Amino acid sequence: MTLADVIRELEAAYPPARAESWDAVGLVCGDPAAPVRRVLFAVDPVGAVVEEALTWGADLVVTHHPLYLRGTTTVAADTPKGRLVHTLIKHDIALYTAHTNADVANPGVSDALARAVGLVGDLVPLRPFPDDPWRGLGRIGDLPEPVTLEEFSARAAAGLPKTAWGIRVAGDPARRVSRVAVSGGAGDSLLGAARAAGVDVFLTADLRHHPASEFVEAGGPALVDAAHWATEWPWLDSAASILHGAGVTVETRVSATVTDAWTRGY
Ligand SMILES: [Zn+2]
Repeated sequence: MTLADVIRELEAAYPPARAESWDAVGLVCGDPAAPVRRVLFAVDPVGAVVEEALTWGADLVVTHHPLYLRGTTTVAADTPKGRLVHTLIKHDIALYTAHTNADVANPGVSDALARAVGLVGDLVPLRPFPDDPWRGLGRIGDLPEPVTLEEFSARAAAGLPKTAWGIRVAGDPARRVSRVAVSGGAGDSLLGAARAAGVDVFLTADLRHHPASEFVEAGGPALVDAAHWATEWPWLDSAASILHGAGVTVETRVSATVTDAWTRGY
C-alpha cells in the first residue's frame, strides 16, 4: 500500500470537502508515493503520540486534531510543532488529519461516542446538514431503558477512557433520562440544538460555566461534561476499521496514550 492508497480510503469515509471552512484537514507531511505498512490512530498530534509512532515503527499517524489549525510561517525545529514535523520527516512518518470532516461523517466521531456511552438503535445528527439528514454534528439516540441521570453518568464514565477529572454533571441526579444527545469535542455551540431537540441529557466536552449554568437554570436538558480527548477517542477504532476494508493491507494501532490537556485532578 502507498500513502496515497490509504488516503483514498480515508477520504472516501471522511470527504475533506465536508470539513468546516476554518478547518485544516488532510496530509500535513509525507510522500503520497511512499509505502505504508503501519498506521497509528490518535486524537492529538503531540510529542507523546509521535514518540509512540517512532517506537512502534509507524509509517503514518492519523490524528483527529490538526497540527497547524491556524496556519504557520515556520516549521523550525526550535518551535514545539516544528520539532514534531522534523522528527516525523526524519523518520519517514506521514501525518494526516481528519477533523470536522470526521465529526460530520456517518458514521463519525459522535456515533462512536454515542455507542461508548450506551446509546442503542438509530442515531440521528443533532445538527443535520440541510442537504443530508444523516450527516452533521452531534448525534441523538436512546438508552435501552430510562435510567436516572446518576446511573447514566456512571455508565458514561465507565464507557469512556479514564482521564484526570472524569466527567462532571449538571442537573438533578434523580432525573429520569432516556433520550440523549452527544457531541464529541467542544459542544458549546450545540446547546441550543440540544434544547430544541427535547433530549433529556446532553453529553459533550469543554462546557463553560455561564452557558452551562444558564442552560440548566432555564430547565434545559441535564448536562454531562467529559474530557475533550475522551469524547473523541472512541472514534479512533472506527477510523482504523475503515482501513481493514477490501484491498487495504496495513497494520493499525489505536493509541491509548491519554493526551487530554488536563493531567491531574485534586
Ligand atoms: Zn476535538
